Amino acid sequence: MRVGTVREIKNHEYRVGLTPESARELVAHGHDVWVEAGAGAGIGAGDADYGAAGAVIVPDAATIFAECDMVVKVKEPQAAERAMLRRGQILYTYLHLAPDPEQTADLVKSGVTAIAYETVTGADGSLPLLKPMSQVAGRMAIQAGATALEKAHGGRGVLLGGVPGVLPAKVVVIGGGVVGFNAAQMAVGLGADVTILDRDPAVLERLDNHFEGRARTLYSGRASLAEQVAAADLVIGAVLIPGAAAPKLVTRAMLATMKPGAVLVDVAIDQGGCFETSHATTHAQPTYVVDGIVHYCVANMPGAVARTSTYALNNVTLPHALRIADLGWQAALKANPHLAAGLNVHDGQVTHAAVARDLGYAH
Ligand code: NAD
Repeated sequence: MRVGTVREIKNHEYRVGLTPESARELVAHGHDVWVEAGAGAGIGAGDADYGAAGAVIVPDAATIFAECDMVVKVKEPQAAERAMLRRGQILYTYLHLAPDPEQTADLVKSGVTAIAYETVTGADGSLPLLKPMSQVAGRMAIQAGATALEKAHGGRGVLLGGVPGVLPAKVVVIGGGVVGFNAAQMAVGLGADVTILDRDPAVLERLDNHFEGRARTLYSGRASLAEQVAAADLVIGAVLIPGAAAPKLVTRAMLATMKPGAVLVDVAIDQGGCFETSHATTHAQPTYVVDGIVHYCVANMPGAVARTSTYALNNVTLPHALRIADLGWQAALKANPHLAAGLNVHDGQVTHAAVARDLGYAH
């Protein structure tokens, strides 16, 4: 199969669908790999790196879309890219179609076979192609929060780990899933005083067993949440209710109970945010202040660490890409129901039940 990857053209997207190492694996499986010139620049991978891996460098995306059997990307195709997709071609990338009727209509019209990373499932019902980005965002949340706590960034001037003779900062993590666990790990590693709130007893038990006292767990209710937020230097919002907007767990009124210069990092901002006063920000201007409390609400946190994120993503996307290339998409999906769950659009039909239902397509 001829597999191609293009330079991402979405604003501020630096990741790339295939690393040079992934290209090498595909080539070793006997496939042709075509890479648009400059595709890896955002992660520090040059054309020469791809060339050394056995890939062919082509000057433009149009050639890749015209000639490749499968296009591997990161972000959903932009309008200019959608215009180049065609029947019989496989598109393997993040799509997030449910809130995007325009993109869905274009994919349907193109006849392309589109496999979406975010709906590929894992054996335990998890979403393994989303997980690495939550790991990145969780770990980054502590870096971002630590920076925002510095005076120059509007914070209260507290060092997370304290120093000998001075108490560490109090970090409160709301939601103990993938983001929350990774945030807690980083905060514990820096020596902060960490409390994780969740509502799921199994999650609380798992975290309690893992941290063995280095982080405390607490059932998330109105009273416990209010008390913890009031005492915190840094609050990480990491809740998720699948398929629903994030609940507004920290209200504007609660900000008045907090210490001036305390920091809120709302990782759940991509689902609307879990603090009443959150609104999405960008890496160019990541924070703002409301009632003396610093807010960090960047919706695409992994984009800031494009290299780490790309490698983390390739670790989970490449095995499926290899299967699709080796077997052809029909046989690969037939052999693996979890990969089959990734099929969103094929030959002019929306094939994913939830996407079809949300956007009013027959299924
Ligand atoms: P997850 O499902 O692994 O964890 C969510 C946790 O929230 C679960 O343990 C759940 O029990 C808990 N929860 C639900 N309601 C709660 C409540 N009222 N109080 C306390 N806990 C509650 O999800 P995840 O992968 O950790 O993702 C968390 C959020 O981060 C999602 O909204 C996700 O989209 C977002 N995210 C954002 C970025 C970004 O760049 N901003 C990147 C990755 C993920």
